[in-house]
Amino acid sequence: MIKWYLIKEIRKIEPPVLSIDIGGTKIAMALVNGRGDIIARKTRPTLASRGPEAVIENLSSGIEDFLSESEIRPEGLNAISMAVAGVIDMKRGLITVSPNLPGWNNIPLRKIIYDKFKITTFLLNDADAAALGEYFYGAGQGLNTIIVLTLGTGIGGGIIINGKLYFGHSVSAAEIGHMVIDTNGPKCACGNRGCLEALASGTAVAREAISRIRRGGQSSLVEIAGGKPENITAEMVHRAAKEGDSLACEVIDRAAYYLGIGVVNLLNIFNPEMVIFGGSMAQMGDLLLQPVRQIISEKAYPHMVKSTSIVQARLGNDAGILGAAVYAMEQ
Ligand SMILES: [Zn+2]
Repeated sequence: MIKWYLIKEIRKIEPPVLSIDIGGTKIAMALVNGRGDIIARKTRPTLASRGPEAVIENLSSGIEDFLSESEIRPEGLNAISMAVAGVIDMKRGLITVSPNLPGWNNIPLRKIIYDKFKITTFLLNDADAAALGEYFYGAGQGLNTIIVLTLGTGIGGGIIINGKLYFGHSVSAAEIGHMVIDTNGPKCACGNRGCLEALASGTAVAREAISRIRRGGQSSLVEIAGGKPENITAEMVHRAAKEGDSLACEVIDRAAYYLGIGVVNLLNIFNPEMVIFGGSMAQMGDLLLQPVRQIISEKAYPHMVKSTSIVQARLGNDAGILGAAVYAMEQ
């Protein structure tokens, strides 16, 4: 929805950032002003299966349409800032590889969009963007050192140390989802075994529920999934667990256990003030977070536990959009 009156007022004061969250199924675009208000937004399908050229074409025409509907010319923008899942080469503005975008290898998306619109363009990892969003406008406001885990089909991470997003030496760091938890564990999409993502993401939760039912486990999930266990999702497991289904509760406890182990490692290394859980699986709230807190209190270095809170994210799906905008404003 476009708030025309706001656009006209805000434009007088400060040029907005065009913030874009490029996901596997949809591209979410928003105009964000310096106060972190989303003054207009629009989404369109990504069309990821059609490959890089088609997606870039779709993205460019999406930007053009959105700007023209908002009556803003590219030069009226502060910047364009894009958040994408995957390994991002920050220095060169490359999408090295992305789990959501098949066929994307070393695509210089930042330069492509800059060349087209001639506006300063930024590209960052979507979980890093979500961390910045939660830090500036969400659960982490006013703190110094926080870690944000985005739990969805995969697990993304963002680390903020003394108010600054931590990037590695060559690419976006904080691949918390690929922290190895169990060297004999299930295979991960990255090729390794027993990564946190392979044990505790939404995909892992659904897979574990399906496997238990196939081995004869009794659960209301079969009915929830319309008699087809293969259609079980993490959201269904959450629903069944809330109603007291014991198989669903066990599956969530198992994911929480591994998340807890992952967070123990993070606490012992970074000693953050807060660990924030976002993404679709964080909707499970205390059903997931309480057992995580329990594991941490049992296994983390004791001094770390006392000073760290484990909380749910506040910004929902807007964390990435707002964080990408903040990133551009800070440069
Ligand atoms: Zn992995």
